[in-house]
Amino acid sequence: MTSAAIIGSGPNGLAAAVTLARAGLAVTVFEAADTPGGGCRTEELTLPGFWHDWGSAVHPMAMTSPFFQAFGLTERVPYAIPEISYAHALEPGTIGVAYRDLNRTVAELGGDGARWRRIFAPLVSRLEPVANLISAPLGNAPAHPILATRLGLAVLAASPLGEASVGLRSEVARAMFAGVAAHGIGNIRSLALSAVGLILAAHAHGPRGWPVPIGGAGAVTAALLADLEAHGGRVLTGTRITHADELRGSDAIIFDTSARDLAHIAGDVLPEKYRKSLRSFRYGNGSAKVDFALSEPVPWLDSALREAPTVHLGESARSIARTENAVTRGNMSDQPYVLITQPSIVDPGRAPEGKAVLWAYVHVPAGSTLDPTEIIIARIEKYAPGFRDTILASVHTSAAQVEERNPSMVGGDIGTGATDLPQLLARPVLAREPWRTPVPGLYLGSASVPPGPGVHGRGGFAAAGAALADLGIPLPDLGFGSGRTA
Ligand SMILES: Cc1cc2nc3c(=O)[nH]c(=O)nc-3n(C[C@H](O)[C@H](O)[C@H](O)COP(=O)(O)OP(=O)(O)OC[C@H]3O[C@@H](n4cnc5c(N)ncnc54)[C@H](O)[C@@H]3O)c2cc1C
Repeated sequence: MTSAAIIGSGPNGLAAAVTLARAGLAVTVFEAADTPGGGCRTEELTLPGFWHDWGSAVHPMAMTSPFFQAFGLTERVPYAIPEISYAHALEPGTIGVAYRDLNRTVAELGGDGARWRRIFAPLVSRLEPVANLISAPLGNAPAHPILATRLGLAVLAASPLGEASVGLRSEVARAMFAGVAAHGIGNIRSLALSAVGLILAAHAHGPRGWPVPIGGAGAVTAALLADLEAHGGRVLTGTRITHADELRGSDAIIFDTSARDLAHIAGDVLPEKYRKSLRSFRYGNGSAKVDFALSEPVPWLDSALREAPTVHLGESARSIARTENAVTRGNMSDQPYVLITQPSIVDPGRAPEGKAVLWAYVHVPAGSTLDPTEIIIARIEKYAPGFRDTILASVHTSAAQVEERNPSMVGGDIGTGATDLPQLLARPVLAREPWRTPVPGLYLGSASVPPGPGVHGRGGFAAAGAALADLGIPLPDLGFGSGRTA
C-alpha cells in the first residue's frame, strides 16, 4: 500500500493527511506535542470548565479556503457568525466598528465611509477569487487579471504611498485599518502588511465575517482527526521527528514544519543551494499571550466592545506603527497594540454560566521571555475599569514558550515566517510550486508556504495535491465536493 508520513498535525498537516488518506494512502502523522492540532487546540488552560484556544480563535480564512469548502468544514463544525467582526478602541468613547454589514460600517464612518466602501466593496464582492489570488505563488498567471490589478491598486492606496490620494483620512478609519494590518506582524506601513490588512478586512464584510468555531479551534482539529481516522489514518503524538531517516519507506513525506526545520530534518538529502535558501528564510517578531478566566464578561465602557469577539486596542494608526516598529528593533512599548478575542460572547459554553474566557497578546521581540500579564491588564483597564477584579485565573505564554510548545513558531513567530514583500513573493523560495522541494517525495505544506499563516489548510492541501500528482493518484472527493484543485 502506498504510504505517507506527515510531520506536524496543525491544520495544514491534517489537511494534507485527510486528503492523502481519502486518496487511499496509509497515512501516519507524527506530532511533537502531547496533543494534536498545532495552532488549533482548545484546552482547560486555567481552571476546570474554562476552555481556552491555545492559538487561533477566529477563522475568516477558513471560510474562503478551497480545502475547507470541499471538506465541508461548516457542515461539520458549527460557527458563530458575529454581527461585529472586530472593534478597534482608540480612546474610551472613540471606537471604530467593522460590522459584517458593510453599509452599516460605512454609515458610522462618516466622511471616510465612502472611501472605506471604495476600497472594500470591490474586494468583498469577489472575496473567494481575491483570497485565491494571494494564495497563488508568484510565477503563476493570475486567474483574474483585472481583479489582480484592482487588488494591487488597493494595496498601494492603503499603504503610505497612496495615502495622500485615495487612502483613509479619519483617525478612526485609519486606526481600524492599521489594527487589522498589524495581524501580519511587522511594519504596518509596508506593502506586505497593507495586503494582509486588505484581505483580512475584506473578509470582515464577507458573508461569514470573522467567524468563531463553537467549541473552540479544537473542534476543527477534532473534525479533521475524525475524518482521518475514518479513512485509516493515525496520529502519533509526543513524537518529534529529527531526521528524515526516521521516515524511510514512506512514499511521500509532507512537512508541516517551519522552513528551518525542513532544512534541519531533511538535511543532507536536500541540494545545498535549496537548503541555503531555506536557512535564509526569515522569521518575524514573537507574540506573548495571556489566557484569562473571568468571573463575568469584561466591563468595557463602550457597548460595541461588549459585543465584539475580536477587539484591537491601539490609540491611532500612528501609535500602532510606532510601537510595532519598535518591536522590530527589539524594543517593547508599555502601551503596545493589543489583540484580544473574547469567544464566550458568542459561544457561552466555553465557560461556566455567567463567566467568560478571553485571550490577549502583544507582539514582542523574537524569543522574548517577557510575561505580558501586567501590561495587558493595564491596557484593558484603560477601556474597561474593573477588569482586574473579574480575573479568576490567568496563564501566560511568552514568545519563547510559544516556540517550546510548537517548534514551527520560531522565536514565538506565530506566522512561521516573517510577512514582508520578499517573503510574500518567495515563500520560502521563489517557485511556481513552492510546496515541492527539489527532492521527489518531499513536500513542505506549512505556513512557511503561500498563503502563509492562518487556519485555511491551503498549504497542506497544495502539498498533498502535488504528492498525489507525482504518484499518479487522482485528487479524492473530500466529502462535500470533488474536482476542486489543490
Ligand atoms: C496565539 C495565537 C493566535 C492565533 N490566532 C489566529 C486566529 O485567530 N486565526 C487564524 O487563522 N490563525 C491564528 N493563528 C495562526 C494559526 O494558528 C497558524 O497560522 C496555523 O495554525 C498554521 O497551521 P500549520 O498547520 O501550518 O502549523 P501549526 O498549526 O503551527 O502546526 C504545526 C505542528 O507541527 C508540529 N511539529 C513541528 N515540528 C515538528 C517535528 N519536527 N516533529 C513533529 N511535530 C512537529 C508542531 O508541534 C505543531 O503541532 C494564531 C496562532 C497563535 C499561536
